Amino acid sequence: MRGFVLNTVKVRDEDLIVRILTKNEVLTLYRFYGARHSYINVGYLIDFVVEESAKTTIKRLRNVVQLSFSFLFNLEKMLNYKIFINLLNTHLNDITKIDNFYYNLLLKITNSMQERNSKRLLIESYINLLEKEGRLHKDFICFLCENKIYKKVALARGFLPAHEKCIYDKGFSEKKLIELFENKKTILFNDEEIEKLWKIMNLGF
Ligand SMILES: [Zn+2]
Repeated sequence: MRGFVLNTVKVRDEDLIVRILTKNEVLTLYRFYGARHSYINVGYLIDFVVEESAKTTIKRLRNVVQLSFSFLFNLEKMLNYKIFINLLNTHLNDITKIDNFYYNLLLKITNSMQERNSKRLLIESYINLLEKEGRLHKDFICFLCENKIYKKVALARGFLPAHEKCIYDKGFSEKKLIELFENKKTILFNDEEIEKLWKIMNLGF
């Protein structure tokens, strides 16, 4: 099988519990003697074998091969990618069966990370995720007072639109947000605005 490592948790001295996103499942597997095998990194795409265990309910992770990314040695890209993976892991908490959208999204991200600005790529990917989950609010109705927002749209956690005065935060230009929400492009935003969008995304998916 093939999947992205969402999370690893050390248990006892050398064992690991590993969460892996495959095309249609989120697997939680047990890795014996983690320290003696090749290291398993969060975010990496791996080939692996699932081994049934008669004694325990948790299945075993075997024959792990890590597949390399082109941006592996770019520290900033790797760091931002791992932040995105951590947010996704928390978001997918308790999920076992999953739409292949998520696996394909990570494939697209890892395939274009080398050429793209990492924060812009990950924000655009997050907008796609929100749309897929039916949580992208393109109508610009304030989630607090439920009135229409004009010109300056502030964003709360989950990119929920609000009036600047309702959440006491500076808004983004409506025109730029329409380009982001409709076409999934950050092109109209300057770097300072990208930082701000990045911080809002980091509040949680
Ligand atoms: Zn409002």
